Amino acid sequence: MTKLVSKWNYPTTVRFGAGRISELPDALAAAGIKRPLFVTDPGLAKLPVVASTLKLLDDARIPYGVFSDVKPNPVESNLTAGIEVFKKGKHDGVIAFGGGSGLDLGKLIAFQAGQTRPVWDFEDIGDWWTRANSDAIAPIVAVPTTAGTGSEVGRAGVITHEETHTKKVIFHPKLLPAIVIADPELTVGMPPFITAGTGMDAFAHCLEAYCAPGYHPMADGIAIEGIRLVFENLPRAYANGKDLAARAHMMSAAAMGAAAFQKGLGAIHSLSHPIGALYDTHHGMTNAVFMPYVLAFNRDAVEERIARLAAYIGIKGGFDGFAKAVLKLRKELGVPHALPDLIKGLDMDKKRKALIADMAIVDPTAGGNPVKLTRKAALALLDNSIAGAVQGSGR
Ligand code: NAD
Repeated sequence: MTKLVSKWNYPTTVRFGAGRISELPDALAAAGIKRPLFVTDPGLAKLPVVASTLKLLDDARIPYGVFSDVKPNPVESNLTAGIEVFKKGKHDGVIAFGGGSGLDLGKLIAFQAGQTRPVWDFEDIGDWWTRANSDAIAPIVAVPTTAGTGSEVGRAGVITHEETHTKKVIFHPKLLPAIVIADPELTVGMPPFITAGTGMDAFAHCLEAYCAPGYHPMADGIAIEGIRLVFENLPRAYANGKDLAARAHMMSAAAMGAAAFQKGLGAIHSLSHPIGALYDTHHGMTNAVFMPYVLAFNRDAVEERIARLAAYIGIKGGFDGFAKAVLKLRKELGVPHALPDLIKGLDMDKKRKALIADMAIVDPTAGGNPVKLTRKAALALLDNSIAGAVQGSGR
C-alpha cells in the first residue's frame, strides 16, 4: 500500500500526512512568522483539536493571539474585528485554521491588515488585485480541518457583503498561503453532515473545473483524479469518520479541486452563491443539491467529456451512468434532493426567484459554465431544483 505521506510544491508547499501538525512551529519559522495570530471559527475554538494545536505553540514558546469571531459564511464585520486584533497584538503573520470560513477569514486578515483601500476594491474582477500594496501582505500558514473548499491552496478568499447579501471573491496571488499543513487527523472530528457537505464541495470544484471550457489539460487531469478519490473515499469517510486513509484521500481531493478550479467554475456555484448569501446554507451542501440539475442542463455540451470521465473512474454507461452515480452518491451521503429539503419552510415567490436568477447570472463563476447561463436558464434550474426534477438540456 502506498504510504500517504509526501511533500508537494504545487501549488504551494504542502506538508501532507497524519500527525504533521506537530511541525507547526517549524512551519512558522520557515514562513518567517514570529508572532502569529491564530484565526479559527467559534465552533472549532471549543474543540480539543484547537487546544492541542495551541499547546504546540505554548511548548515552542511562540507568542500568539487567538481570533475566533468568524461566522460560517464570513462577513465584513468579522474581518474588521480580526484586523483590529491583528494590529493591536502586533502580529506578523496568520495561522489560518479551520474549514473554508476560518481559512478564508485568516487569509483575508493577513491580506487586508496592511491595505488602505476597502476590501471590496480587491474583488476578483480583471486586474483589480494589482491595486493592492503587495509588500504589506503578511505571510500565512494554513491548516485545513475540513476536506472541501481547498482554500488552503487557493489565491482567493470569500466574504459576504452584508448590505447587498452577495458573496464576493477577493483575489490576490499572495493570498496563497506560504505553507500548508494538511494533516488528515485534524478532520476526524467532523460530523457526518459536514463531512458530506465539504466532500461534495471538493467534488463540485473538480466537476465544474473539468466541464469549464478552455484549454487546461493540467487542471483537467487533476480534476478527474480528484473525482475518482471522492467516489472512492467520501462514502467511507462519511460512514466511518475515523477512517484515516479515506480522510487523507479526501484532503487531497479538496486541494485538487481548488488547484483545478483556476480553469473555471460554473452554474452549480453561480446558483449556490446567492442561496448561501440569502439563506446562510452550508456552501458545499448547497453545491451538492444543485449538482444533478446543472449536470442535466449542461448535457449536450459535456456529454463526451463526462463519458471519458466515467470510463476513467470505472463507471459504466457514459453520461447517463455518471449522472446516476451522482444521484446514488448524494443519496448515500444524505444530501437533500430538492432545495426545500435543504431550506426548511422555503417559500420562494416570483420576485425572490427573479432576484436569485439575477444574482446567479452576474456571479463571476457563471462565465465558466459550458452552456450560457441566461436569466431564463437560471430560473429554470431554480424551478427544477425546487421541484426535484432532474431534466433539461441547455441547447
Ligand atoms: P466551515 O468552515 O464553515 O465549517 C463548517 C462547520 O464545521 C463549522 O461549524 C466548523 O466549526 C465545523 N468544523 C470544521 N472543522 C471541523 C472539525 N475538524 N471537526 C469538527 N467540526 C469542524 O465549512 P467549509 O465548508 O469548510 O467552508 C465554507 C466556507 O468556505 C464558505 O464561506 C465558502 O464560501 C468558503 N469557500 C471558499 C473557497 C475558496 O476558494 N476560498 C472555496 C469554497 C468555499
